[in-house]
Amino acid sequence: MAEISRRTVLTATGAGAVGALAAPAAGAAPAPPSSRRHRTHHPRPVPEPLKVPEAIGSGGAVSSVDPYASEVGIQVLRSGGNAVDAAIAMAATLGVTEPYSCGLGGGGFLVYHQTRTGRTWTINGRETAPASFTDTSLTDGAGNALPFDATVSSGLSVGVPGTPLTWEVAARQFGRRSLRQLLRPAEELARRGFVVDAYYRSHTESNEERFRRFPETARVYLPGGRVPDVGDTMRNPDLADTYALIRRHGVGELYRGRVARAIVDEVRNPTTAPGVDVYRGQLTMRDLERYRTPVQAPTRVRYRDHDVRGMDVPSSGGIAVGQILLLMRAYEERTGRRVRDLPEADYYHWFSEASATAFADRNRYVGDVPDVPVDELLSAGYARERALLFDPQRAMARPVPFGSPDGDYDDAPGAGGRQGQPTQGQSTTHLNVVDRWGDVVSYTLTIEQTGGSGITVPGYGYLLNNELTDFDFVPLTPGVPDPNLPGPGKRPRSSMSPTVVLRDGRPEVTAGTPGGATIITSVAQILLGYLDRDLDLVDAIAAPRLSSRNAAEGADLGLATSPVGVELTARGHRLSPQRWIGNASGVAVEGRSLVAAAETVRGDGGAARVVRGRRGHGRH
Ligand code: GLU
Repeated sequence: MAEISRRTVLTATGAGAVGALAAPAAGAAPAPPSSRRHRTHHPRPVPEPLKVPEAIGSGGAVSSVDPYASEVGIQVLRSGGNAVDAAIAMAATLGVTEPYSCGLGGGGFLVYHQTRTGRTWTINGRETAPASFTDTSLTDGAGNALPFDATVSSGLSVGVPGTPLTWEVAARQFGRRSLRQLLRPAEELARRGFVVDAYYRSHTESNEERFRRFPETARVYLPGGRVPDVGDTMRNPDLADTYALIRRHGVGELYRGRVARAIVDEVRNPTTAPGVDVYRGQLTMRDLERYRTPVQAPTRVRYRDHDVRGMDVPSSGGIAVGQILLLMRAYEERTGRRVRDLPEADYYHWFSEASATAFADRNRYVGDVPDVPVDELLSAGYARERALLFDPQRAMARPVPFGSPDGDYDDAPGAGGRQGQPTQGQSTTHLNVVDRWGDVVSYTLTIEQTGGSGITVPGYGYLLNNELTDFDFVPLTPGVPDPNLPGPGKRPRSSMSPTVVLRDGRPEVTAGTPGGATIITSVAQILLGYLDRDLDLVDAIAAPRLSSRNAAEGADLGLATSPVGVELTARGHRLSPQRWIGNASGVAVEGRSLVAAAETVRGDGGAARVVRGRRGHGRH
């Protein structure tokens, strides 16, 4: 059972606070618990390491939203682990400290670039629908979409989790350490406890009512019946035991063994508070047994001198980010102007138009179906044709129609129909690692909405995803094929965009972020800021974001009301102010320096670390 205790002995500490959680040398015995006992007879919680948005140095670098995770990652690198090892240990740690964004009950996409061979692999750890799903599984008997919110908090939204198998496959195929070693820091943190910060508290608070619908979730995440305060210690011994179970027996327990049984039983028949009724799910033991995490080739786009590698289907991330970049190039050709020289208002205008165009195509063509025209969507010829719609002065009418990626690109824009917008959540987390060999991992993982389905696997301490709500419940536009309808064993389309950029065959920058469909626009904007607009990575991440998704355009950090926002509005953009869009992080390789970067403000700031720190920062 999760427990909570008041902070009594904590003091502020700097980096290195979770040094005791470092991955052990091969075969080392588990470290003994802290000798000084907490007054309530618990082991002492692990003090929160510092949040630092930028770190410059060498020997390896990591970044994430969370200082515990980044600290664990850097310890793995220090002790000789590679980028994949660090990424797994960080992800497991995030499962403890960011349990509403990711964890064993969710899925994700891991991009791994190996510098020695020049090869990039991606692991498709997306959740899958049950074999019993059809294209009407998310409708009522009369063909109407089920209510979205009721579907989210129910067994029906839960797909087969992909994260545990992603870790096992990644460690086995690409790591230097065993999963057994890599899960140890996270297990210890879950047992000893971490210090609750404002971010964690606010996410718990916003989920409180929902969590109370599921008594097991309330037991684990509202310990003592309440939302933990900032400064409290949050422990999750159930999750610690689950990590211990995986360390002993592997992830098979979660796909075939007793944990799998607990998942299936709970999804099919959720235990709810008195008076609460939720949809039942359809997952079976067979669905879990048959689950696989394909290792796939990345999407690849040539953007100037840069080789941009991202996540292919079932994510739309690599395709849409690539298309935005290609459209910006096509606008350059049409106007004779350069992205790097554009005044801010022009830059945001171009970016908004490119994003809206890419989203129109994504919604029409991209999903977990066999015939996605990836090469055509990512061709310069198609971008040129799509750029014919672009007006340098005025925003195109929304929704922008989708195009025809048919290989014939010499004349008219070839506009197809206009479509509505799918619904997506706003959770998830992202991490980056570059190791001493120059290998890179960019990994985005999620349980979909903050708090996922709200259902905790009874006795095992982690939340199950609601990823199946990423399907379109009904066709977006009647009469237009929709590649993202539910189907048997199908994976819902994602926006997650873990990205690695190479130049002259060497890693140049990696980045990613949470944020549902805004992930695509945030990652594209960070890449443009860094690669074209000459911003340092931390500034490219900190820059105000515009997220144009072929409908309303979100704008954060005061952009909507700034002079640039006013000019955009005059050009026909309809900006809707948001507090924060995304929570990004990345690592840049600049000569012999590694620059780890994270948010300065969004999400209360992120956590960048390097193995060996260095002063001074000369770009390029
Ligand atoms: N489920 C979303 C996706 O795969 C991510 C959720 C989020 O970032 O909020 O695109």
